Amino acid sequence: MALRNMRFLGDDILRKNTRTVEKFDERLWELLDDMKETLVSQNGAGLAAPQVGILKKVAIVSFDDVHIELVNPEITHEEGEVSDMEGCLSIPNKTGYVTRPSKVRVHAQDRNGEWFDVEAEGFVARALCHEIDHLSGILYSDKVTKWVDNDELEKMREQAKKRHNKVPQRVTFTKPGSEE
Ligand SMILES: [Zn+2]
Repeated sequence: MALRNMRFLGDDILRKNTRTVEKFDERLWELLDDMKETLVSQNGAGLAAPQVGILKKVAIVSFDDVHIELVNPEITHEEGEVSDMEGCLSIPNKTGYVTRPSKVRVHAQDRNGEWFDVEAEGFVARALCHEIDHLSGILYSDKVTKWVDNDELEKMREQAKKRHNKVPQRVTFTKPGSEE
């Protein structure tokens, strides 16, 4: 495993569309392992392949030591609407409010090509939407309704921390065929 070089706002690669993954081979596994290591080293909640310069439909969303590896992910259902703070490893030292669905279902493949569904609310739903946007060259900064200044951010961080600690993340995984 190795850390990958991050790409930042202004880099054209972040604006490009990505290719569907067709080969579930060692190269993909190495990319996922490296992305995970890079994400953990940056203390981030998610990372998409374009952020490390790879134009493939690959992303990782992390919460509570769980790393959801998403290959060729698609949002298949969304409900509700909620505005909350968001940041991005490719846009350092910035935070802004973005309106996202409060609940989403995502259909994706794992590193072996097996399809699964993940349903999530709140913070994880937001992270899924953010990372999937990256795979179409969309950045959260395109959607910000209000930027947050640094003082406000400190206060918000404290509140958000409490909120995230209090609310258990409801995330459900389903493999096709596992439902009646
Ligand atoms: Zn991002």
